[in-house]
Amino acid sequence: MTFRSLATVLLVTASAPALAQGQLPKSVVPVSYTIRVEPDAAAMTFTGSETIDVRVTAPTRTIVLNAADLDVTLASFDGVQVKPVMDAAAQTVTLTLPKIAPVGNHRLTFGWSGKINTSAAGLFAIDYSDPDGKKQRMLATQFEAPDARRFAPMWDEPAYKAKFTLSAVAPKGQLAFSNMPAKVTKLAGDRQLYSFGESPIMSSYLLYLGMGDVERRTVMAGRTEIGVITRKGVIDQSAYALDAAKKLLPYYEEYFGQPYPLPKMDMIAGPGSSQFFGAMENWGAIFYFEPELLFDAKRSSVSQQQRIYSVIAHEMAHQWFGNLVTMRWWDDLWLNEGFASWMEGKATADLNPNWNYRAQGVGGEREAAMRLDATAATHPVIRKVTTVDQIGEAFDTITYQKGQAVIDMLESTVGEGRFRDGVRRYMAKYKYSNTVTDQLWAEISAAAGRDVAPFMHDFTLQGGVPLVSVSQAACGGQRMTVTLRQSRFGLDAASKAAQTWRVPVTYATLGAGDAGAAAKEIRGSAPQTAEAVCGTLVVNPGKGGYYRTRYDAAGHGALVRDFGKMTVSDQLGLLGDDMALGFSGDQDLARYYETLAALGPQSDPLLWSLAAGQLGRVAELYEGTPLGDRLRAKTLATLAPALDRYGLEPRRDDSAQVTNLREGLVGLLGAAGDTRIVERSRRYVADLARNPSAIPPAIRSPILRTYAVNATPAEWDALLSLARSETNPVIKNGYINLLGAAREDALAARALELVKASDFTDQQRVSLLASVAGSHPDMAFDFATTNAAIINPMLETSSRSSFIVQLGGRSNDPAMPGKIAAYAAKALPVASRGPADRTVNAIRNRATFADRLRPAVTAWAGR
Ligand SMILES: [Zn+2]
Repeated sequence: MTFRSLATVLLVTASAPALAQGQLPKSVVPVSYTIRVEPDAAAMTFTGSETIDVRVTAPTRTIVLNAADLDVTLASFDGVQVKPVMDAAAQTVTLTLPKIAPVGNHRLTFGWSGKINTSAAGLFAIDYSDPDGKKQRMLATQFEAPDARRFAPMWDEPAYKAKFTLSAVAPKGQLAFSNMPAKVTKLAGDRQLYSFGESPIMSSYLLYLGMGDVERRTVMAGRTEIGVITRKGVIDQSAYALDAAKKLLPYYEEYFGQPYPLPKMDMIAGPGSSQFFGAMENWGAIFYFEPELLFDAKRSSVSQQQRIYSVIAHEMAHQWFGNLVTMRWWDDLWLNEGFASWMEGKATADLNPNWNYRAQGVGGEREAAMRLDATAATHPVIRKVTTVDQIGEAFDTITYQKGQAVIDMLESTVGEGRFRDGVRRYMAKYKYSNTVTDQLWAEISAAAGRDVAPFMHDFTLQGGVPLVSVSQAACGGQRMTVTLRQSRFGLDAASKAAQTWRVPVTYATLGAGDAGAAAKEIRGSAPQTAEAVCGTLVVNPGKGGYYRTRYDAAGHGALVRDFGKMTVSDQLGLLGDDMALGFSGDQDLARYYETLAALGPQSDPLLWSLAAGQLGRVAELYEGTPLGDRLRAKTLATLAPALDRYGLEPRRDDSAQVTNLREGLVGLLGAAGDTRIVERSRRYVADLARNPSAIPPAIRSPILRTYAVNATPAEWDALLSLARSETNPVIKNGYINLLGAAREDALAARALELVKASDFTDQQRVSLLASVAGSHPDMAFDFATTNAAIINPMLETSSRSSFIVQLGGRSNDPAMPGKIAAYAAKALPVASRGPADRTVNAIRNRATFADRLRPAVTAWAGR
């Protein structure tokens, strides 16, 4: 699954069922399910029946499996009717048999009715208008995690793998699709029966059913048929995705050493959105929300193209890592998500060499992981999961991006080939079964010829980021002595704890080639010495290692002097470390500004992209203060030359990095009120009335955003008309979100009125509220807590404990932490207050940063 970190993950629920690993008794296990469902899309209900072939492994009179929100009316065991007893809090159905069932094969049957949901949990509906303006309803399922139990009674835990044979009744004229290909037969009353083939043995969360008024287009990749399924009218936008998938499939078959095991792989585009995720890897039937899959050459930019490519690469990696081999329990979710995130980056970089995608990740995902991991909000990559809420919360930056970073470190430590061999051994040994993390370490160790478990345990069983401090003695002839010392890097007091790792430190002397490269694993907190070739020392070259580096004054000075001689990855790493060390107080932020001054107009666009994000983050700390105004002026003056170099308007020969940089700078400078960009955005939007493609795709998103942020009341009304009249659901959602971006308070208030009551869908209203929170966090939070009775029912279950509290997350009001804590104490059960605590912590940290950085920022901003 690809998760959304922006508007977030939260969940509530008055009851948090305890889900100790193996909550369901192991005395009965499913072997195969035969499930038939008939949705009534108009009534938002469905009926279902199933036969489950089970194996009794220990004599028992009690059978417990999962079911939630289902009205189970019929149950039988070996043909004898039994009364089903539901437990809503535990999300189970229990059968008590008339006599003890002996060990062996048996058969269960169930009959039930259920609800079609409006948000993505279980079977859900996506409402949209087709190009003629006719209302349409697409059905889809989302079962991770754990919502297969809302579809049919099941052993809904990842370790209970079984075969699934699904059939579904669909209205005449619609297409239905699932993990396997279907045979279609006519039924009475304008209905048709889709009988899907039997799936391989798999976990319940990977089952899929969808149907609607859709089109399908296919290509062949070897023996596998790859399909894209979209609403009518946009199938042409699937060409990019089909081409990407066709290249990725053989790449993965080769990498994992296992053929793709299903006859087909569909990619389904849903014209909606979720607060929680962007795409889901259902085996052979990957579901995506439209912006994650469809590439519209008239409107999409390179950054969206990269996003589409990497999301496809992520979901396809899961077809092996996750679907073929699955974590035993949610504690090891990172095995799925960290690995898929890493594989996504590797495959995207390998298959798109022009993107310099690996370096892009150094300034992107790696920085994101280290930022969160250096605060009290962090947790070990492998974490104990005992409640349904915690399953939802497990889908976070640590699981995905830190997971990705530590796998990257492992690969760079043992070597690409040996690492891949270990992964192949793991796949071959555990296909169609479940694992825990140590089973992966064992196979990598066997392939690498060394035990990697001890150092990987250090990075996965404890949270936090190591900080390696480096000092170098004067050069004595050809060699110099380097002293390395580790500690825990902390952005807040709670994370500045005593802690150590086995850190595989690597270093190299600039210009010395292989002779200057060396490695040393450091342990404990005592200083350790190493030898290096004299010269400018780069620690962690390539930035594969998961740790921050602090140089002494001479070492840092040499790096700034020789900045242009470093690789782009190392330049990005230095900028990232210098900014982070300033925030944490380990180093004066003035050092960051020295490094920044080494950038010139000719520097790689990735550096300017990182710098723009960093300067934006510093500026946010002082928004609304006199220092904030001076800082904004200085930030604009620093970044404007980079935009001048490439120009506001896209050029034919721009590289992907230049296009991305322009998109970022136009957005940042436009939102800051750069008059040239604001004027240009007004002319472009005026042109939209005559030509919907008037804005070049490469700057469409930041131009619209500039217009929205700086909107006058009349311009906001124009945006509202665009939102109301647009029929393309993706573009419509974009316009609706922009209504929340306006800087003027009165316009934010009008956006909130639309959240409260309007003809927009629940998903659109929730998304608009999150958008208002971006620019007016205090108004959005106060509105949501006052109107919680309206907001909560619109939220996905997986977002209920996080959504409202996170609305206040960008506030600089000293009263906000108290308000969030008070709301959480009143509205959320104790076990679901983690997101509230983390939001409060983040706000307090920002206040500390603002105080700590003020002298250096003031000096840089000037008078
Ligand atoms: Zn995933």
